[in-house]
Amino acid sequence: MTHLECSLCSRKYPAGQIANLCPCGGPLLVRYDLARLKGAWPRDAVAKGPDSMWRYAPALPVQKAESVVSLGEGMTPLLRLRRIGSGNILLKDEGLNPTGSFKARGLSCAISMCVELGIRKLAIPSAGNAASALAAYAAAAGLEAHIFMPQDVPQANYLECEAYGARVTLVDGLISDCGRIVAERREAEGWFDVSTLKEPYRIEGKKTMGYEVAEQLGWELPDAIFYPTGGGVGMIGMWKAFAEMEALGWIGAKRPKMIAVQAEGCQPVVRAFDAGEARSQFYAGAATVAAGLRVPKPLGDFLVLNAVRESGGTAVAVSDAELIDAGIRLATREGIFAAPEGAACIVAAERLLENGFLKPDERIVIYNTGSGLKYPEAYSTRFPRTAAGETDKLGGLITPR
Ligand SMILES: [Zn+2]
Repeated sequence: MTHLECSLCSRKYPAGQIANLCPCGGPLLVRYDLARLKGAWPRDAVAKGPDSMWRYAPALPVQKAESVVSLGEGMTPLLRLRRIGSGNILLKDEGLNPTGSFKARGLSCAISMCVELGIRKLAIPSAGNAASALAAYAAAAGLEAHIFMPQDVPQANYLECEAYGARVTLVDGLISDCGRIVAERREAEGWFDVSTLKEPYRIEGKKTMGYEVAEQLGWELPDAIFYPTGGGVGMIGMWKAFAEMEALGWIGAKRPKMIAVQAEGCQPVVRAFDAGEARSQFYAGAATVAAGLRVPKPLGDFLVLNAVRESGGTAVAVSDAELIDAGIRLATREGIFAAPEGAACIVAAERLLENGFLKPDERIVIYNTGSGLKYPEAYSTRFPRTAAGETDKLGGLITPR
């Protein structure tokens, strides 16, 4: 790592210092001396690294190996779908990460940097899975985690955060309201704000999804990537990873069509894409069972829209009924129990194959960002257990009534 650079005004900041947003409001991106790394780190050397995302450590910001806080994140399987789609759809199953979602990658990197920079108290607003991952990695690192989530966050996320020993506050509102509370209180409380893109290192962990898909496909990128887009940082990270890999001489100039998938009940990026706008508008009344897609105004919207447009991709909105149907179909027909966010990508892929935007011989990679096990509320809408009350669900197993 050489320095941090503002994604809006290009102002530079030194490495090795605590940083949040640029004063201009732009998220900071980590820059590396890729020209020097190019000679020292050939792509064939990657396989000698650990069986986790830390195999890409030379392109990650952590300087000291002892700072790394790992629970085994990354190197998730790339599964070929057998019965759904064109026969050319691969699913990158991020549900197999620690804490059951891709958020583990970003938080492993961010918490490692907190260790390296001596940060002790962390705060995060989260739609759910980021909170679980922060709580786990903070516990592993022995750091203090303060978590602000909407009060209707999936039960799994709430239970995980409590079990990992985080200080949990449930907020009557959306992730944007949680973010405001963290922003207001962080100075007085001495918290480091770990909000997506408000610190520069989570995206570095998430970008390893891009490195991995290239490695798993023999250093050839697919023709299209479907990414469930809440904050969209995974897509921004992959787009950055592709540019880095090209600078390293690992891949050529070819890029996949980047396809942002959102829920009909919260589609700020789709609206902005369709309107030809550079930034999204706050999406009022955001509502969807896919909790990770309930981000009414992504901070990095302009970076997502850039990647989608530059790649010749598109943005697609899917209804809650369609994405839950697809999740159940994916489980029934492929043996994969996906998060509703990942399932939304199945609907989007089928739609774009049907309308001819994609051809059947094009290689498609879908990111399933989490495990279906983290979404009992969403899937319960299809499989209600009327015979069991809330207490019976647990008590019924061990008591006579
Ligand atoms: Zn700036």
